[in-house]
Amino acid sequence: MTGEAAAAIGAIKDYHAHIYYADDGQREIAARLREQVAALFPAAKLGRWHAMIGPHTRAMYQIAFPRDLLPLLLPWLMLNRDGLAILLHPNTGRPRDDHTRNAVWFGEVLPVKLETLPEEEDDEDDADA
Ligand code: ZN
Repeated sequence: MTGEAAAAIGAIKDYHAHIYYADDGQREIAARLREQVAALFPAAKLGRWHAMIGPHTRAMYQIAFPRDLLPLLLPWLMLNRDGLAILLHPNTGRPRDDHTRNAVWFGEVLPVKLETLPEEEDDEDDADA
C-alpha cells in the first residue's frame, strides 16, 4: 500500500449504513434486520426511523458503526438485506463525496439530494445524514 492510500483510509472516522424501505413489507424486513443488528453488533448505533430526511429520497434508518466493525457488518448486510436498498458510506468530513463518489450501494441505487450535502462538514454533528 502506498503512503497516499494509507492516508486516505485514515481520513475515515466511522461508517454509516442507511437501510431503506419502500413499503410496509420492506418496513417489516427492515425492522427484523434492525433487531438482529442490535443483538449481534452492540457497537453499532441505530438511528431513528425517518420518513425521508436530508439527502435521502426514501424512508430509512441509519446504522452508525466504528471502523473495526466493517469486516463483520459488511458481509452480514450482504447476506441479510433481503432485497432492501442500502447505502454504505464512510465519514471523512466531506459529506457530499461520502454520499456519492465514496459510497457503496447494495441493490437498488437511489437518487441522493446533493443540495443538502455540504462539501465539507461543519463542526456540529448532523444526525442521521
Ligand atoms: Zn449517513
